[in-house]
Amino acid sequence: MESLPEALATKLSGARAESARWWERAQAAIPAGTSGRRRAIPPHPFYPLRGEGARLVDVDGNEYVDCVNGFGPVFLGHGHPVVVDALVEAVSRGTTFGTPHPDEVRLAEILVEGIPCAGKVTFTNTGSQATDAALRVARVLTGKPGVAKFEGGFHGGYDAVLGSFAFDPEQSGPVEDPRFVSISNGAPAENLAHTHVLPFNHDAAFDKIERDASKLALVMVEGVQGFGGGIVADRSWLQELSRVCRANDVLLMLDEVITGFRLGYGGAQEHFDVEVDLATYGKAPGAGLPLGVVAGTDDAMEMLGTTGDFARDLKERAYFGGTYNAGVLVTAVGIAVLEYLKSNQHLYEQIDQLGEMVRTGIGGVIEELGVEAAVIGEGSIWGFQFAPAPIRSVRDIPPGNGRLRSLLQAYLLAEGVFVSPSFGVLSMAHTSDDVERIVTAHHDALAAMKADAVIA
Ligand code: PLP
Repeated sequence: MESLPEALATKLSGARAESARWWERAQAAIPAGTSGRRRAIPPHPFYPLRGEGARLVDVDGNEYVDCVNGFGPVFLGHGHPVVVDALVEAVSRGTTFGTPHPDEVRLAEILVEGIPCAGKVTFTNTGSQATDAALRVARVLTGKPGVAKFEGGFHGGYDAVLGSFAFDPEQSGPVEDPRFVSISNGAPAENLAHTHVLPFNHDAAFDKIERDASKLALVMVEGVQGFGGGIVADRSWLQELSRVCRANDVLLMLDEVITGFRLGYGGAQEHFDVEVDLATYGKAPGAGLPLGVVAGTDDAMEMLGTTGDFARDLKERAYFGGTYNAGVLVTAVGIAVLEYLKSNQHLYEQIDQLGEMVRTGIGGVIEELGVEAAVIGEGSIWGFQFAPAPIRSVRDIPPGNGRLRSLLQAYLLAEGVFVSPSFGVLSMAHTSDDVERIVTAHHDALAAMKADAVIA
């Protein structure tokens, strides 16, 4: 965990004594103290008691403007009646049946209608499971083993895609031919043998796809790289990527786990007007419940279907299944959230405007304080980087940035604003007053970082 300047650590700990006790207990029961290292905020995390709209309230009674929103799923805001009512109604019917059920079909129909590339959809529990299933679909359909991901792209926690998130001049290789840099121990080389890495927002990616086309089943891409830091794809570059993949018989998967139903009801596909074969979803439609979705053309999704003959399926189809897929609660919530969003599309304009206000406001603070930094992003998503604009890929973000962003997170917490070091997101519950608080908190946090000589 990042060590903090003493005054900041004392300020944070002083107001969070009860959280400190939970953190101490966690050390004995959970490795790293929490079920995901990103959650271990120095000097110790705060422990929320509840969420209310755009706020979190912790066990010590502190209130925070929440710009993490569960890393994206809390799109309507905490405790939104659409979600609560759907859950309460559904739980009295059961949690899981181990059979198909009407809400599974209803939700699939809504998704097929709303997702541009979807001939059919199917359900997983997480975004990682969805992208993994999409990869298997592509491998079976094309008969090729390779998967390409972009530098800065995040698609889940399994070996083949778990790497090359940041730029490391020592290991990442040249922009024309980036190397895969795994970020986890315990990933054997054989599991990484079919992973190719491409430069984001760079035409050299097209040459590499052409070169490797005979081996590549699938290219995975995000329209806005969330964990990469809010980096936005150039629209024409993304459209060219789609053409190059098609021309080379390589499938293209748009990972909409963050952008889906957030960057407009049609997600990044509609926003960037890009044609893809497969798209994966999670987060926003599930409102915090474990909902993942694989969507794709009929040809692609057929690979998750059946020929009607078990022996033939083993040879011609991909395995697919899962105990909790399309459970009663997630499907009920998914239907309620999507019906609400579909019939209230004016809300997208509102949230996108607030997102723009966040970027402009923080941009003004950066200029006023003379900090070497840039704020990027699209719609209700933003990223803060300690690097000058323009930032078109993680190659524009110097090493050491992650540490500074973690420190900024701690300084912002002291100002009552909770943002991930990777990216910030608004929910439909945020107001212009919240935006003002977010911007003011950035001002005060960056000024304190300067005063503490953490940044120049
Ligand atoms: N794809 C993207 C773009 C993501 O941001 C994430 C997670 O944040 C995933 C996939 C993996 O989703 P999950 O954490 O639900 O497995």
